[in-house]
This record gives sequence, structure tokens and C-alpha cells, in this order.
Amino acid sequence: MTISPKTLYDLLLDNFGHQHWWPVDKKYHQKQKSDPRFEIIVGAILTQNTAWANVEKALDNLKKHKALTINAFVHINEENLKIMIQPSGFFNQKARHLKLFAAYLHKKYQDDLQKFFSRDETEIRHELLSLRGIGPETADSMLLYAGNHPTFVVDAYTKRICKRVPFQVLNDSYDDIKYFFENELQHTIPKKELVPVYKELRALLVKLAKNNCRKKKPDCHTCPLTRLCEKSL
Ligand code: SF4
Repeated sequence: MTISPKTLYDLLLDNFGHQHWWPVDKKYHQKQKSDPRFEIIVGAILTQNTAWANVEKALDNLKKHKALTINAFVHINEENLKIMIQPSGFFNQKARHLKLFAAYLHKKYQDDLQKFFSRDETEIRHELLSLRGIGPETADSMLLYAGNHPTFVVDAYTKRICKRVPFQVLNDSYDDIKYFFENELQHTIPKKELVPVYKELRALLVKLAKNNCRKKKPDCHTCPLTRLCEKSL
């Protein structure tokens, strides 16, 4: 027996409810008249190899210094940026990549994220992947959550769940998992609902991985998939 992504989505949503991703401080951006999409972009880079709680500390530091804009990142001293984002780990590398990306958006798109995201999704993804420090997961997170483009994000949690739950995925490469979810969902969900469903499903998979499908000692007993999962312990 196999499980379809749509069944998975329905089960997880019924059990866990909406996760309200990507978390953005709307009040802050209203007050500062800044673009909240840049917070998502920064968060997508800061969250590489670290827990979200550490990213929140780094984002709080950036907000305290009113530094969450492309323009601020272009002009900020790199050493100061490192100090602000230190809680997220790998801060030397991340500060460099953030500065480079901000400079790129500044020079090529005049700080205009609407201009950047108002293009063909494949073109933007290709462009993002050509930049330093941006891999497939980071690029897809930016495209989906900041750009509202229908692209499914695969992370380590999703890969782990795919190894345990009986999906019809051929192997566990990033692209295979991504295209499996996209192909299946495109055939079962109306086009205009794809973006919200991709956003929600990714967040629900993270919730499942943290709540039940943990790396060690998964809690299968209370897992919403327990009756359907081959690896249920
Ligand atoms: S039943 Fe167990 S192994 Fe399967 S998804 Fe749930 S927690 Fe993971």
C-alpha cells in the first residue's frame, strides 16, 4: 500500500492544523515601511544548518538595529553583520553570502523584490542557484514563501519521512522528492491552491518530524500516520 501526498496533507492538517508559515513580523515591517519578503530571504539563509530558534535571535538583533532591508545590508559593515547574526551559527559564511545577495538585488533589481519575483519561476530558480550560498532548499524556500511561486521545498525532515512512509518516490534525491510531490499534487489540487498547499505541507512535515517522526525513537504510537506507515514501530 502507498500513501499519496494529498492523503498525507489531509491527515496532517486534520491532526496538526494550520502552521502559519513562514513566520514574518508584519507589525515590524508596517512600522518600518519595509518589505517583509526580505525577512523571509534572510531567514532562508540564516536557517541553513541551524534550528529556527537561533534564527529568531539573529532576526531580533537585525530588527533592533533596523537592518532588515536590502539597502541596510548593502551598507552595513560585514563585521557588524557577523555580530548580529552570530546566534544562527556559521556567521562568517552567512554574513558574506547575505552581503553578496543584497548587493546583487541592489545592483540588478534596484532593491525591488517585486521586480525580482515577477518573472518566470524557472528563470528565478536558475538565477538563485547560480549565487553563492544558495542551494536548492534555500532557493525553493525563497521562491515559495517570499515569491509565492508554486515550488515544493524539500528539507532533511521531508527526506527522513520519505524513507519511512510508503510513497512512490524512486529515490531520496532532492529533485526526485520535489518532483514527486509536485506531480502528485498538481493532479489532485486546483492550480490556484497549489502555493498555499505547498507552504502548509512543508510546515506540516516539519511538525510531524519534530513531534513524532524523530531521527531517534520516533513516536509512532501517537503519529497520525501510524496505521498507514510501513516503518511504524
Ligand atoms: S508511524 Fe512512525 S515512522 Fe511512520 S511517520 Fe509516524 S512516526 Fe514516522
